[in-house]
Amino acid sequence: MDEKSILRNSGVRIVEVGPRDGLQNIKSAIPTLTKVELVSRLRNTGLKSIELTSMVSPRAVPQLADGRQLLADREIQGFLQDEEVRHPVLVPNMRGLERAMELGVGEVAVFVSASEGFSRTNINCSVNEGLSRSRQVAQKALEAGLSVRGYVSCIFACPFDGPTSHETVARVVKDLLDMGCYEVSLGDTLGVGSAVDVKSLLGHLQRSGVPIDRLAGHFHDTYGQAVSNVWAAYECGVRVFDSSVAGLGGCPYCPGAKGNAATEDVVFLFDRAGIETGVDLDQLAIVGAWISAELSMANGSRAGAALAARQGFREQPRSHKESFGKLEQEEVMSKAQKDGSRLFQAGVSLRALWQVCHLLWRSRHKLALPLGL
Ligand SMILES: [Zn+2]
Repeated sequence: MDEKSILRNSGVRIVEVGPRDGLQNIKSAIPTLTKVELVSRLRNTGLKSIELTSMVSPRAVPQLADGRQLLADREIQGFLQDEEVRHPVLVPNMRGLERAMELGVGEVAVFVSASEGFSRTNINCSVNEGLSRSRQVAQKALEAGLSVRGYVSCIFACPFDGPTSHETVARVVKDLLDMGCYEVSLGDTLGVGSAVDVKSLLGHLQRSGVPIDRLAGHFHDTYGQAVSNVWAAYECGVRVFDSSVAGLGGCPYCPGAKGNAATEDVVFLFDRAGIETGVDLDQLAIVGAWISAELSMANGSRAGAALAARQGFREQPRSHKESFGKLEQEEVMSKAQKDGSRLFQAGVSLRALWQVCHLLWRSRHKLALPLGL
């Protein structure tokens, strides 16, 4: 896709980062097929940029250890052929880039921290070393005809070093643009910034000669400021925003850090302002409710939860339905007893709860079990 045509568009572009940034901090293993289905459902909402996964070490991010498997999936391979949609993959180094290229990826994302402490903990090198590593990756990717997107993390503060200076952010952003990134995403990894901080940083970047139309906003919602930060950045001229369906996400080094701005909330914000996103909000709300149910997590999007409820979304977590379906009679009993309280906490529907109670009652009275739970 022609980069300039995106930037000329008067609307905004949403970069959905749920399948990568959103899922990476979830401890329990999510089946690759669920991830494929998530990407597929997100594509159907009209999203034109969906970050697929990351080629980081499985030890560093066990949840994305199936990155290659995901990219090799037939459906994903088909998506990678679609020139209308960007499917970036995060790559930390040359090895990651090579693996991504082998699997036909057309766009990669490189990442650098604006703070030394986070850089050392996250990627085990200094900010400058991170920049030169990214430069190598970007150079090889560009030579091979790939697009390269850049991320800067900890734009406002770092969990180890405290506040980040605007000057450091400007230096890192300029370096990433200089090495050929078509766009640089400004990441408030801790989610500690507010609208005033956003305006102050963007003002500084503009005065330092950074073109605002090459920037994206990536705001985590730890203090509930993500959507207002998106709007503040929009008012400063930013037109690209990273967000995560159902607000999935967090940060392993920042206890309490919440996920990205929820895509549903961001689309709702722009829809209400009459600003084109190209995303079908009702459909997106169903995707958010579906993945929340799949992961047995509360929906992190306020707009998404409200819209899904209005549409009468009642789908039960597929994993529970399937596993119950496959178990033998005795196994169902012990699973039902073990899972009863967990299922309740996870907020599954009353029907599932009724089924568990019913099972327990029948077992106590030694009645035959019904099939097809
Ligand atoms: Zn993030």
